[in-house]
Amino acid sequence: MKALSTLLSCALLGTVACARSAPASLAANTAAEVPPQAVAAIPDTAPAFNASRAMQYVKEIVAFGPRPIGSESHKKVENYILSHLKSDTVEQDNFEITASEGKFPVHNIIAKFPGARDGIIVIASHYDTNWPLRNMNYVGANDGASSSALLLEIANQLRGAKREGYTVWLLWDDAEESMKLPWDDPESLYGVRHLAQKWQDDGTIKKVQAFLLEDMIGDADLNVDRDQQSTAWLEDLILQAATRVGYQSHFFARTIYETDDHVPFIQRGVPAADLIDADYGYNNVFWHTTQDTVDKLSPKSLAIIDTVTLETVRLLDQR
Ligand SMILES: [Zn+2]
Repeated sequence: MKALSTLLSCALLGTVACARSAPASLAANTAAEVPPQAVAAIPDTAPAFNASRAMQYVKEIVAFGPRPIGSESHKKVENYILSHLKSDTVEQDNFEITASEGKFPVHNIIAKFPGARDGIIVIASHYDTNWPLRNMNYVGANDGASSSALLLEIANQLRGAKREGYTVWLLWDDAEESMKLPWDDPESLYGVRHLAQKWQDDGTIKKVQAFLLEDMIGDADLNVDRDQQSTAWLEDLILQAATRVGYQSHFFARTIYETDDHVPFIQRGVPAADLIDADYGYNNVFWHTTQDTVDKLSPKSLAIIDTVTLETVRLLDQR
């Protein structure tokens, strides 16, 4: 994600509310206490979210170290994600990019969970860390790992349930991060730009009902921003979903203008929304630093985003 846009939106857009509301108390969530072995036994309802397992996934991704494109640890994280999807239908979208710093492999991973309705809902997260930060111990616990872990746990939930609604594709996309800092539009969002074009060329994009992006959603102080680039009605639906499950106090106190993985789909007319908390630590101080570590995160935040995302999917299924 591009932070400069956040700052600009606060500085330049007079109508935008950048003030933060007081942190809300969290509603009780018992899903975290459901043991993993209870999950597989329920055939026709979605298994409960296992927040402690999701948090364990975050820790395991982070333990590989920095995962810039082209690195050994990046390959290990790819294999780690794939190892969790062995019983699923998985498509790998592999290609090579030529950036100003050289040639790099880019690997998108898509797990497909079929539904009865004709159409696809995509839930996405990037899993790379920044190539320019490759030589410091920057592990992106929130930025990339939290959302990638969340998708692994969503896969566990989808795997165990029969879907009456749309098909859901989980997308771990690659090379989101900019090859230059602070941000370079032509040298960023490589994975999703490639996929959006591919899906436009082969007609898949017409089937995509919604593209839901998760980014930086593990912050213990969770405040998801409303994003002006996202599709307005889809943002409204997310707020409706959040309100239905009692988590609305974590949503949309602030409005930003965010360049992120949803943009190539917005540009092609796909309804898309970025679920992002772009204020990570005071004044976003942890973002893209060695301070983006697991201790700043909360399993509760993962549970909140999981619940709201799946409730949004349910509302989309009913439209
Ligand atoms: Zn980032």
